[in-house]
Amino acid sequence: MIFGNLSGRSTLFSDALAYDVATLSGGSFSDDPMRVLAVWDHFRDWASRATLTGGRAFAEADLGAPAPRPGQIFAIGLNYRDHAAEAGLPLPGDLTVFTKFSSSLTGPVSEVTLSGSSVDWEAELVVVLGRTARRVSAEEAWSYVAGLMVGQDLSDRVVQTAGPVPQFSLGKSFAGYSPVGPWLVTPDEVSDPDDLAIETRVSGVIVQSGRTSDMVFGVSEAIARLSRIVTLEPGDLIFTGTPAGVGMSAKPPRFLRDGDTLETTIHGIGSLRQSFAAAGEPVEVA
Ligand code: ZN
Repeated sequence: MIFGNLSGRSTLFSDALAYDVATLSGGSFSDDPMRVLAVWDHFRDWASRATLTGGRAFAEADLGAPAPRPGQIFAIGLNYRDHAAEAGLPLPGDLTVFTKFSSSLTGPVSEVTLSGSSVDWEAELVVVLGRTARRVSAEEAWSYVAGLMVGQDLSDRVVQTAGPVPQFSLGKSFAGYSPVGPWLVTPDEVSDPDDLAIETRVSGVIVQSGRTSDMVFGVSEAIARLSRIVTLEPGDLIFTGTPAGVGMSAKPPRFLRDGDTLETTIHGIGSLRQSFAAAGEPVEVA
C-alpha cells in the first residue's frame, strides 16, 4: 500500500492516481494523515479491502510530508560502513542518535534556501512508525513499521560541528532541511525492505550510490535499540543514516550552491527533488 499527504489530506496512491481517504472511507478515517497513522493497523486492514474509486491525477508539487507532525524524529549518524570510513571515524558500537526538529519537514518537491556555504546532502531511508513501540526485540521490530520513505538529512556543516561539544540537531533543522516522501510505502511492497538501492544526484551527477543492507544498525536493530530508551509512537520518524559520498568528504569538498538541484532516489519507493536558492545572511556561530 502507498499512503501519503496530498494538499494536506490523507491519500492512497495506486497506478499514478490519488484517492482521498476521508471521501473513500465515508469519513471513517480522518483527512489528517497523523490521525490515520494513529490507527494504522485498523487503517491498513480497511485499505487492503477497500475498492478504489474516484481516483484522480495529481501534481507532485502538491505532495506534503506523509507524517507532517511527528512527535519525535530520530536520526542515526555514521550508520553505513563506507560513510564512517570516508569521515575517518571508527564504526560506532551503538547507535549515534540526534534529532531533526519537525519544523524542518517538507514534502518531496521543494525549493530550499541555503543557510550558508557548507550545506551538504545525506540521502536516507526514513522509517515511519505505525505502532507504539516500547522495548521491542529486533525480531519483532518490522511489525511496528507503518512504512518507508525517502529522506534527505540536509546539514549545515558549520552549524552542525560548532562549539566544544558539537550538537548536530540545529544544523540539520533549518527550514526545509528535512524533505521526505514522496509517500509512505508499506514494507510488503518492496522485495527486501532491508536491501534497497539508494542514490543521490547533485545537478545531474551521481554522488551517492549505496544499498541499505550496508547499514551498521539496520531498521529492526535501530527500532530495538531506540525503544529500550524511549517509547516510539505512531507517526514518529527514524532517519537511518547515509551512505558514502557526502559533499564534505569530496576532495575538494563540494557543498550545495545557488541553482543546484538535488535528486534523491530509493528504488521501489520513489524520489525527492530539491532546488536551492542563494544563502541569506550566514548564521553566526560562536
Ligand atoms: Zn544523516
